[in-house]
Amino acid sequence: MKKRILMIALAAVLGLTACSSETAGVQADGEDDKFKIVSTVFPGYDFARNIAGENADVSLLLPPGTESHSYEPSPQDIIKIQSADLFIYVGGESEDWVKRILESSDTEVRTLRMMDTVEVYEEEIIEGMQHDEDDHEGEDADHEVDDDHGAYDEHVWTSPVNAIKISQSISDALSEADPENAEEYAKNNEAYAAKLKVLHEDFVEFFGTVDNRLLIFGDRFPLRYFVEEYGLDYYAAFPGCGSENEPSAATIAFLIDKVKEENIKTVFHIEFSNHRISDSIAEATGSSDVLFHTCHNVSKEEMDAGEDYISLMSQNLERLKGAMD
Ligand SMILES: [Zn+2]
Repeated sequence: MKKRILMIALAAVLGLTACSSETAGVQADGEDDKFKIVSTVFPGYDFARNIAGENADVSLLLPPGTESHSYEPSPQDIIKIQSADLFIYVGGESEDWVKRILESSDTEVRTLRMMDTVEVYEEEIIEGMQHDEDDHEGEDADHEVDDDHGAYDEHVWTSPVNAIKISQSISDALSEADPENAEEYAKNNEAYAAKLKVLHEDFVEFFGTVDNRLLIFGDRFPLRYFVEEYGLDYYAAFPGCGSENEPSAATIAFLIDKVKEENIKTVFHIEFSNHRISDSIAEATGSSDVLFHTCHNVSKEEMDAGEDYISLMSQNLERLKGAMD
C-alpha cells in the first residue's frame, strides 16, 4: 500500500521536474558530470566528504537538524537517491524507508550500507532502563523486525575504530565506482584514517587514567559501540535512540540512586534532547548536566560552523575529561 503511494508520488514528480533536477541542489550548475555521493545521515556524509575531496559532490539527504527516527523521504529525496552514483545509508531500524525505496526502484543504485562494514551488536536493554516491548520507534505496522534477533543497534559510527572501517569501505566503493580517481581516494582515506586513529588513541589514553568507568545518561543511549570500544560501563534512561516515551519514576529513581552511589559528577544528555530527564537527575543529585554529541545529526549552526565527526568527538573527549576521574 505504502509502496504504491510512493511510486505514484515518484512518477508525478519525475514527470514534473524532469528538466529541473537538483531541487534542493547543493552543487553548482555545470558540475553534473562529477561523481555524486548521497548519504542519509551526517556521519556517512562527513566520512565521504573527507575521502572524496574535490573529486566528487557529497550531499546530506536529511537536512541538518532533522529528527532521523521519524523521517519520511520526500519525492525529491527519492530522485536524489536514484540519481546518486553512490548512496550511503546506515541500514538500521530508523531507515526502513530506504529498503522500500531501493526495492521499488527500477534503476540500480550503487549502495553502501554502513552496518555491513562493521561487526554489529544488538540493542542492549540493561538494568533501570525504560523499555516498552511494543515500542519500535513509533514505526507503523509494516515495520519489519528480524524474528531471530532483537533489533541491531544502528549507531555504528560512535566508535572511532568503526569510523575508520566505514571510511575504508567508502574509499573502496568509490575507487571501484570511479577508478579514474582511485588513487586520490586512497590517499585521502589514508590521511583521514590517520586523524581518526589519533582521536581513538586520545580516548584510549584518557580512559586509561580513569578509575570509575561508569557513564550515566539521563537520556536515550545510542552509544553502545562507543562504550564497547573503550570498555566502559553505563546506565541510561532508554536503549538506542528511537523512543521518546516518558521514563517511569522507577527509571529516574534508579539513575538518581546510581549517581549518588557511585559519586558521579556529571550526567549526560545527547544532542537535540529536551534535557528533561538529565536535568531532573542533576537537580536531585547536585551533579552537572552535560552534552555528549553522538554525531547522529548536526544542527544548522554546527554545520555552518564547519563542525565534523572529529571536532565533535574531540569536544566529547574534553567534556569526559571534566566529568570522570
Ligand atoms: Zn538513532
